[in-house]
Amino acid sequence: MKFIVLGSGTAVPHPQRSSSAYWLETSSGTILLDCSASAIHRMAQEKLDWAKLDAIWISHFHLDHVGGLAPFLFGTRNAPETRERKKPLKIFGAKGLEKLIKAFDAANEYKLFRQPFPLEIREVEPLEKFEILEDVEAVALDTPHTDESLAIHLRHKDKTLVYTADTGFTMTLGDFARNVDLLLIECSFYKNKPVEKHLELGEVMHLVRYAKPQRVVLTHLYPEWDAFDLVSEAEKFSPPCEVIEAKDGLRLVIN
Ligand SMILES: [Zn+2]
Ligand SMILES: [Zn+2]
Repeated sequence: MKFIVLGSGTAVPHPQRSSSAYWLETSSGTILLDCSASAIHRMAQEKLDWAKLDAIWISHFHLDHVGGLAPFLFGTRNAPETRERKKPLKIFGAKGLEKLIKAFDAANEYKLFRQPFPLEIREVEPLEKFEILEDVEAVALDTPHTDESLAIHLRHKDKTLVYTADTGFTMTLGDFARNVDLLLIECSFYKNKPVEKHLELGEVMHLVRYAKPQRVVLTHLYPEWDAFDLVSEAEKFSPPCEVIEAKDGLRLVIN
């Protein structure tokens, strides 16, 4: 699998970090993990084949994770690149996803559901196993962030990835991410986090030491991180694996 960070930042505007979106390429197709407003242009900037994107995962309904979905569907509805497309685009997320997209659509009769190709919206239940792509098995987990927020565990052949998305602290995530090949985890704050619904570095590294992933990528970085060297701060916690700072444009191969 190939993994590309499109946006390593948050809702706060930042000159180098755009909002949440990650591209995952497998031999069965491609998945966009979260779709911020910046994601749609970042895909083009990274020269990714957005017109053939197979699936989108929406972790929760904060706009730095879903704000690009309506603009993307507005684009695919009209772009020459998708005019001949026949294969479906599947959008997965928590209960309420369809209502949200319909509300975006109704705001100005954008006709987002009238695409040249079939659009499928699938609301998933926590802990329900589903196929996000053929041969890519997924399970979602409730997280303490919003009512609907979900982490996701993906398995393709014998490779695994967990994306926590935004979350407060819970050891359940440690079990969920146990021994995965890549753990993509939010690390919003350095220390003394101002809100319970996100993670700070000490909590992240506690989860990492417990879960023992092959590699961990720290993401969803608020601008306060500009003042610190994230990797050397993380190494003070003696992590059991390589720690990688997410940056827009970071590319990794999971094999
Ligand atoms: Zn966020
Ligand atoms: Zn959020």
